Formats: sequence, C-alpha cells, structure tokens
Amino acid sequence: MSMKYERIKNFINGEFTTIESARVFTITSPSDGTCLTELPCSTDAELEDAVKAAKNAFALWSKTPIKERVQVFFRYKFLLEKHLQELAALGSEENGKTLSESIAEIEKCIELTEFACSLPQLVSGETLEVSTGIECRTERVPLGVVASIVPFNFPTMVPNWTIPNAIALGNCMILKPSEKVPLSMGRIAILLKEAGLPDGVLNIVHGDAEIVNAICDHPGIEAVTFVGSTTTAKAVYRRATKNLKRCLALGGAKNHLLVLPDAAPDMTAMNITASMSGCAGQRCMAASAMVGVGSVDHIIDKICMEVRKLVAGKNLGAVINKASRERIEHYITEAELQGAKILVDGRNVVVPGKENGTYVGPTVIDYVTPDMSVAKEEIFGPVLSIIRTGTIDEALAIENASPYGNAASVFTQSGGAARHVIEKASAGMIGVNVGVPVPREPFSFGGWNESRFGVGDITGKSSIEFWTKLKKSTIKWNPESGVNWMS
Ligand code: NAD
Repeated sequence: MSMKYERIKNFINGEFTTIESARVFTITSPSDGTCLTELPCSTDAELEDAVKAAKNAFALWSKTPIKERVQVFFRYKFLLEKHLQELAALGSEENGKTLSESIAEIEKCIELTEFACSLPQLVSGETLEVSTGIECRTERVPLGVVASIVPFNFPTMVPNWTIPNAIALGNCMILKPSEKVPLSMGRIAILLKEAGLPDGVLNIVHGDAEIVNAICDHPGIEAVTFVGSTTTAKAVYRRATKNLKRCLALGGAKNHLLVLPDAAPDMTAMNITASMSGCAGQRCMAASAMVGVGSVDHIIDKICMEVRKLVAGKNLGAVINKASRERIEHYITEAELQGAKILVDGRNVVVPGKENGTYVGPTVIDYVTPDMSVAKEEIFGPVLSIIRTGTIDEALAIENASPYGNAASVFTQSGGAARHVIEKASAGMIGVNVGVPVPREPFSFGGWNESRFGVGDITGKSSIEFWTKLKKSTIKWNPESGVNWMS
C-alpha cells in the first residue's frame, strides 16, 4: 500500500532512529481513509536508548539556568506561530478534526508555551532569617528523566501540557505519543531542535500499551504523567506508583451541563452545541449530558436547530476510527431501544467523496434516564444526552452520582443558582454559561474523582510542584555568634 509519509521513527538524542519491531500499525486518516504511514512499536532496547540519552542530557540541561532554558521556548513559540497552518493541517489529517479546530489546538500550544516562558518569574525560592545569623532557604530542583504519555484526541496540545513546563523546569523527557496519531510530534521535535533544544532533552518513543508498561517499570524514569481513558489511567497510576514513581494520571469524563429555564436561549444553544460537537465530541471537556431543570423545551428546540447546522465532513470532523464509530452508533441505538427519543440522528452518515472517512453525524437524544448507558458512560462522539429533572438539586444529584469529575457547567441568568452549582458540583472545572470550561493559563487544568489520579493539576502553577522537588537549606556564616538554637 502506498503511504503519504515515511514510516514513523523514534526521536532519540536529537535524531530520528529506525524502530526495529515486527509489530506494526497502519495509520489512516479518519477524514477519508488515506493511508498516511506505518507505526512500528518500540522495543525495550529502544526505550533504554532514549532513557540513556535523556540521562546524559540531564547533566548539563539541569545545570543551565532557567532564564537560559526558557529562551528555547521563546523561540519555539515563534516557530509554532510561523508553522501554525502546516501543523494544524497535519493534526487535522491524522486526527480527523476540522482545520479550524486544529488551528485552535496549535493556538493553545502557543499559550501553554507562553506560560512556560514565564516560569522564571514563578519559581524563585524563599529565604528567611530563622534565628540570629541563620537563614533557611528553598529552591526548586528538577526531577531527572520524566515521561509523558498522551492520548489521540489532541495530537499536539496534550503533549504541550507537559513538554514546555517539564523541560523549562530542567527535566529531560521521554514522550510517548498516541499510536493513533504519531505524526504531529515528529514535527514538534524538529521545531524544538530548531529552537535550540539540546539533543537528548526531549526523546520520542512510539508504541502502545507494551511500551507504556516498560516506561512505568523503568528504574531510570522518575515521574510519569498520563492522559487518556480512566481504565488506562488507573492501570498506569497503579503501575508507576508501585514502582515508586511520582505519577499524575488524567482519565476520561462525563460532563454535565445543567440548563435552567432562565438561561439565555440563543447563547445556551450555541454553547452547548459547540461543546457536544467540537472535535466530533472527542474532548474530555465535551458536553455529553445535558440536565434540563424544569421547562426548557424552548432551549432544546434551539439546540436542535443549531445542531442541524452541523454537516459531517464540513464543519463537523470525523471520529478517530471505525471501531469508535460503531461504538458511538451502538450507544445511540441502545438508548433508542430503551425508550429515549432521538431528536437528531447522526447514525449511518456517509460523506460524499469521503466514503472511507469515519463520521458520525451530530445526535441529540431526549428523555434519557439516569440509568441508561448514554447518561452514565463516556461516549466520545458528537452525541448529547438530555435528562429531564424538576429541581436543581435533582440535577446536582445526577451530576454528583457520576464517578467522573472533569467538568460541569450551569446555564442560567441567576447568580444564586450559579453559585449553588459551583459549590455543589463534584467536578474540578466548572463553567457558568460556558460550555467548555477549560481554564486558560495561568490557571491549571485537572479534574476530580475518576477523571484524575494523583495530586495537583497538569498545567499552570500546579505543574511546578509536579515537575520539581524542593531543596531546603539552613545556612550559618557567622561562627562568632556562638551556638544558636538547633545549631
Ligand atoms: P487511551 O487510554 O486508549 O490511550 C491513551 C494512551 O495510553 C495512549 O498513548 C495509549 O498508547 C496508551 N494505552 C492504551 N491502552 C493502554 C494499556 N492497556 N496500558 C497502558 N497504556 C495504554 O485513550 P485514548 O483513546 O487515546 O484517548 C481518549 C481518552 O482520553 C478519553 O477517555 C478522554 O476523556 C481522555 N482524555 C482525558 C483528558 C483529561 O484531561 N482528563 C484529556 C484528553 C483525553
């Protein structure tokens, strides 16, 4: 089969290196089925080479002052801006999202990089004269070789949650891209090299579960971040911490949007539609379950009008693969058989000229009950399930019963009602009249409950805690002042 791009290679010690493995995946574009490349899965020996390269690089990189380290990221930010269109096109090709969604993804990478450039202003330590002539002081020290394991839905943004901060703080990294979208990270490696990142500071090792397990087991890796489904997040968190590594593992989600009758109808309909359909619903922050409180039919009508404006293959991207499309359509059919009402049906969509693409049309399901799978499970497709309740507390009880806890939003014009939801929702990121309440830098990203395992958030100021350890020094330079307390 002819391939558009050459076979995927690892990126180790500043060079692309051949992966010697018989286990090979074929990567096709979800948009139209074009064969893009082949991805061999790395072996333990190749991971070993990457860890060695990172360890060697760490000696010098960790001793480079942070003000110098961030200069790489100032240049990287400029290169992201310069190559924005090209990076966005590649991300869209391998992931299936629309070009404008992919552009927004690269813009977010630029914002994440800006934050990393500000790190020198945030990480200065503290000093205090704790008794006469004695000073205590703290400083933040990098961990060493760290790893970042990422999912398919944001081929560039999720890796950039960790790369700029971890590396600017002095660590050297092994990045494991999703085996479903391996291309974008190759371009990022080239841009970081062009920005002046020394060889070995960032290494990319491709593969699937096997190499993730090898990363979790490797004694030379100090810390692991993971972003992906909850099942895998749990497995990675257990395995990495069993091996005494620092670990932060973000999982899946089922986000509830509470809609009150006083919500501004047009704005609410637009926001909910954008949230359930953006990136074809493949966002851990997607609006997946709307909980209508009282009489909200006028808003549901407007949502359906907005949703019908979405056209698969035009302003609605593809889902990642055939298995995913089948899974999503199965959820819709199951809900229908259980008595829910399909208001907009996205099953069996064929996009003319892109018959080999994997599309699901936008779908709205009304009269979903809290016990149905579409109410409880992460669908990861452009599907909105509507649950009807009588009171805001009934709606909150449904939200609170979810094992996940990434995001929750409320649509209302009442400050009191919004305040109540902010207080009672069991989720790490709350929106008021915002469908995708992703905090922007410098505020950190992270859910609660089964949407996150470990302590702290993955971005923003919280990431400083994760990627560094604190050194505490107690210092006395005045022998003439005699013996002090705790001398
Ligand atoms: P996934 O869990 O299948 O894969 C994520 C990573 O784990 C990949 O690199 C994959 O190679 C690896 N992996 C897969 N199975 C594994 C196993 N058994 N053992 C070890 N490693 C394994 O997730 P995905 O399908 O790529 O991404 C979609 C999921 O990610 C959704 O659940 C979504 O909600 C979640 N997600 C969460 C966030 C967040 O911030 N909470 C952000 C983006 C995506």
